[in-house]
Amino acid sequence: MTENIINLYIHFPFCLKKCSYCDFYSECYDGGKAVVYLSALNKEIDHYYELYPDIKIGTLYLGGGSPNLIGLEQFHALIAKLKSAFDLLSVTEFTVETNPVGYNSGLFQHLFELGVNRINVGIQSFNDFELQILGRIHSVNDSTETLPLLQGIGFEHVGLDLIYGIPGQTMDSWSESLNHALNSGIDHLSLYNLSYEEGTPLFDLLEQGKISPLDNEIEKRMYLEACRILEEHGFEHYEISNWAKPNCESRHNQAYWEGRRYLGLGPAAHSYDGKSRWWNVRSVDKYIEQINAGQLPIDSQEVLTEPDREIEHLFLRLRTSDGLSRSQFENLFHIDFSRIIEKLIKLNLDEEYWIFDGRQFKLTPGGWFVSDSIIYTILGFIEEIRNDHKKS
Ligand code: SF4
Repeated sequence: MTENIINLYIHFPFCLKKCSYCDFYSECYDGGKAVVYLSALNKEIDHYYELYPDIKIGTLYLGGGSPNLIGLEQFHALIAKLKSAFDLLSVTEFTVETNPVGYNSGLFQHLFELGVNRINVGIQSFNDFELQILGRIHSVNDSTETLPLLQGIGFEHVGLDLIYGIPGQTMDSWSESLNHALNSGIDHLSLYNLSYEEGTPLFDLLEQGKISPLDNEIEKRMYLEACRILEEHGFEHYEISNWAKPNCESRHNQAYWEGRRYLGLGPAAHSYDGKSRWWNVRSVDKYIEQINAGQLPIDSQEVLTEPDREIEHLFLRLRTSDGLSRSQFENLFHIDFSRIIEKLIKLNLDEEYWIFDGRQFKLTPGGWFVSDSIIYTILGFIEEIRNDHKKS
């Protein structure tokens, strides 16, 4: 890594129970295994300290899984280890993810004292029936008790995640969840459209015809309704799935969208050093085995090619409210951006989906909802223009 500031993600890959829709890598919690895992994690930290002795951490994110299952002593030991290996003086944001279950006020008070300044809570819905469909182990009551307690501790930022498109969810129940979230005084909100990932129990239920997915038009209305309600409440829609009160954006996630470097530790964690990307094995057992054999637990690595960078630039920039800069696009692609605009207009690609002021190209909320197809259309135009150049 040439630049010495990086953003650090640490994965705690254990949950009390797997949710029915989840295909993130995590296992059911086993206290003994978690201890062995944390000691292997220390060795991975040592390894990166040896590789990059001068790095400074910009943002620190402890995600999962359910990091709230880490015991207080284990948490202290982890922070002490990080401090001994990396320079944490430049950390501007330290986030911990949690679930609204088994709330341990002592642990969170200590996290606050140890410098955690952002908490993100996996609420997902304020409707008990929807929580059951999602296979969550918490209830609406757990959420309404946990949120004020976290806020009472004094964390600078408290945010939560909600899911829309849940089978059986209605426009009314979605608006209720949003209003519940807004009334809880949070300053950050992430909204995700439910997806059915192969290998999850929810996917199997869908295949067996035991649940019906929500109509895409209803999901779109839910997304647009959220955009409207959140704007009315002073939230800025700064990324396709993320809203924040002014100056309350997640800096760690912004680093991903801005293509900055990050180091991910733990099983299935991804890293990026500006040139290549690598990711760890997707198994706690393999991770522990490889670390204990003195090897890095890397599953695969890829060096980004020029076309990879171009595609990534489009996908990352068009996720954000800043959008794509015409000059950056022209420097990277060597194509006059007005040719892309001409083609969009010719194709009749609805102008309600995008805005271009001559310098920045941005997607509107309606455009964000269909962003993948817009981006692939633009990539197709780029190829056509390049082929025309070759012929001429
Ligand atoms: S708590 Fe989060 S990481 Fe764990 S199974 Fe549920 S969705 Fe997945």
